[in-house]
Amino acid sequence: MAIYTLPELPYDYAALEPVINPQIIELHHDKHHAAYVKGANDTLEQLEEARDKDQWGSINGLEKNLAFHLSGHILHSIYWNNMNSPKDGGGGEPLAADGVGDLADAITESFGSFAKFKAQLTKASATTQGSGWGVLAYEPISGRLIVEQVYDHQGNVGQGSVPVLVFDAWEHAFYLQYKNQKVDFIEAMWQVVNWQDVSKRYQAAKASVPLISF
Ligand code: MN
Repeated sequence: MAIYTLPELPYDYAALEPVINPQIIELHHDKHHAAYVKGANDTLEQLEEARDKDQWGSINGLEKNLAFHLSGHILHSIYWNNMNSPKDGGGGEPLAADGVGDLADAITESFGSFAKFKAQLTKASATTQGSGWGVLAYEPISGRLIVEQVYDHQGNVGQGSVPVLVFDAWEHAFYLQYKNQKVDFIEAMWQVVNWQDVSKRYQAAKASVPLISF
């Protein structure tokens, strides 16, 4: 019985043109994201088998696979919703007039200005070595926003931080269209950011009960 399932895209394959072409979206969602969902489910089954048989020889690899596939599933599920067509309001900056003033204020408080935040997330995303992500995350102890440069899907992450805006910097996210120009792809991503969705995630993260206190 599968625990995780592939979510539907919130738009059609061509919705993010010209920033991301339909072929990339189709392969990325239907093949790559689907593989992480399957990987997470398969790994949970293998862990159940290990418990049943009390055989722990593969525990290190299984725990690594669980973190990889589960984090891949979570990040991609956020990624699709973090974007929308410029025709439907994607892109630009978060503005109070659009009902996302809290998010805009938090970005300014945490990074100095929207421009400084944009520069940091662009740089963090575009300079990933190998495969990774640039992530804007809510950090619950300080109540501030931070940028994380994630290795693969799960490395280099501050425990407890909640991703609210994620830029996929894996080659599969852009290579068919942008070739080796990762910086161009990341810079173009700003044209399709769905600030309403980012704001919704920020508000939910802020409202969640902090599990850690000192
Ligand atoms: Mn991806």
